[in-house]
Amino acid sequence: MPWSTLLPIRLQQPPVVSDSATNLETITPLRQWIRQQTSSGLTLFQQYTEADRQDVARVSLFVDDMKDIAYTSNNEIHVGGDYIQGITGDIKWDFNGVLYHEMAHIWQWDGSAGTKAPGELIEGIADFMRLKADYAPPHWVKPGEGERWDEGYDVTARFLDYCNDLRDGFVVELNKKMRVTYSDNFFVELLGKPVDQLWMDYKAKFGN
Ligand SMILES: [Zn+2]
Repeated sequence: MPWSTLLPIRLQQPPVVSDSATNLETITPLRQWIRQQTSSGLTLFQQYTEADRQDVARVSLFVDDMKDIAYTSNNEIHVGGDYIQGITGDIKWDFNGVLYHEMAHIWQWDGSAGTKAPGELIEGIADFMRLKADYAPPHWVKPGEGERWDEGYDVTARFLDYCNDLRDGFVVELNKKMRVTYSDNFFVELLGKPVDQLWMDYKAKFGN
């Protein structure tokens, strides 16, 4: 059964974005993209059975009048109308990247059943999923850049990519562990080294 059948997506009417022809062209294909990204999100985290994944029956997309690019809360993805209108390059590519990140938030575990994972790691995992889907935007840091492993977003995503190269499927396994709780020791359990050591190895590999 296709994921789109399991997970019906309801695209809300964009409430704020003006109805100029340009914007309508931007919004209309979103329903299809969302379906694609939903299935991709599941595939990336390898949560193939209902028992493995978050109990999500529906994901809704809203286009809001807000300054933020996007956020996800209660299985709702909210995207800023200003952001969409301000895209100057390939709209579909740009939007897909944002969607991968937000879809990762829908599906990922955060350890909150026990010790909640740091928000920076949560954002790093979401950006890692965007990276692996080949939607890393050009303004992101390069591999090896950044000050701390838990700086969040692109810095953490690049570091997780390094870790994932050390052990194929590392991020998926880390996410699975985070269903129950979070501990930095998960890095030791999966990769045999403390996360701070891994960060130093990572920096050394890229000459930073
Ligand atoms: Zn995020």
